[in-house]
Amino acid sequence: MSTQKFQEWGVEQIKKSGPIRLSNAMSNALIHPDFGYYHSQDIIGKKGDFITAPEISQMFGELIAAFLGFIWDQSGRPSNALLCELGPGRGTLSADIHSALHQIYPDFADAPLHLIEASQTLQEHQKATLIHPSIDWHDSFTQIPPQPSFIIANEFFDALGVDQAIFDGVQWRWRLLDFTTQFELVTGPVLNQSEFDAFNCISVSNPTKGTVIESSLKSEEVTCDIAHHIKNYGGACLIIDYGKNNPIGDTIQAVSSHKPVEPWSSAGNADISHWVDFSAIKRLTEKSGARFIGPVSQSHFLSQIGIKQRAERLAKSDNPEHNRALFAAVDRLISPAHMGNLFQVGLIVPTGKGLPPGFQPD
Ligand code: SAH
Repeated sequence: MSTQKFQEWGVEQIKKSGPIRLSNAMSNALIHPDFGYYHSQDIIGKKGDFITAPEISQMFGELIAAFLGFIWDQSGRPSNALLCELGPGRGTLSADIHSALHQIYPDFADAPLHLIEASQTLQEHQKATLIHPSIDWHDSFTQIPPQPSFIIANEFFDALGVDQAIFDGVQWRWRLLDFTTQFELVTGPVLNQSEFDAFNCISVSNPTKGTVIESSLKSEEVTCDIAHHIKNYGGACLIIDYGKNNPIGDTIQAVSSHKPVEPWSSAGNADISHWVDFSAIKRLTEKSGARFIGPVSQSHFLSQIGIKQRAERLAKSDNPEHNRALFAAVDRLISPAHMGNLFQVGLIVPTGKGLPPGFQPD
């Protein structure tokens, strides 16, 4: 149903103004009020289309809580601190962070919680899951009050949509979405100077014919908003996502029922995402006057902040079944065969020196 509505919307747009930008198609496929995928029921979790780290194990949220609490402590324990999650999904991560903070940093645990969420359906889930004295929902980061903010974004940036450019052997051109009998990618006009700069084409030395690069304008805007906020009011933002450290490659992917599917014929009924370019996030953070740390792999980050020790603490000597599930979850989160190397972790902080746990060399 949503796939058909997406197709009707896409065909209409293309008829009006020619082939469309991929970021426009992706963000509408995900959050358009009539057919956006994130408005459907039960998309995240074992029974849904894809599973995320907080849905794999509560240990993920507990470790993030320990990390954010540590950074809050190092920042001088500001009493007006806020907690913020971008794209909270079912609310599981914020709920796990909240209960872990009560154990380890009780003075920080009930800091007002600000959630950035585009989907009404997921907001309802979050309302049902979260027991917290002060929660506010927003649709844009710019609505966060001017106070020190400790922010987590797990699998948020990958949902913000990306544009592509392709090298034709001489110059860079747009890669756009067209429709004949089905959706297809086509080569569009040559990038003008400001588009060339936005794609940071200059960073790609010696491209060959057919090289594809990506740029996410929306991620860059959000990064600048966050970095300015942290520079001006303090705090930190932990970003965890499928990622890489350059703009090269076609990384648009879609999953449905835990299996990869062709993105455009499934749009509206599948989770369409891309690999986040952490080099762009770093560049924009620094341009905004804040500091970027990382990226490191999720495996490095979680291992260094003690996921194995946490699993050993939670293991029960009389319950081998429980322990098997616990160590299987650790394996999914950190082994290179699963999420360990695909997922990268970066941190935005005010200017300063030193590396927090999770980001130190081995
Ligand atoms: N962090 C959660 C969910 C990740 S799925 C987890 O780890 O389980 C992506 C989340 O980002 C969803 O909650 C989705 O509705 C939200 N989202 C996607 N695009 C958004 C946008 N443009 N603005 C606000 N929220 C968005």
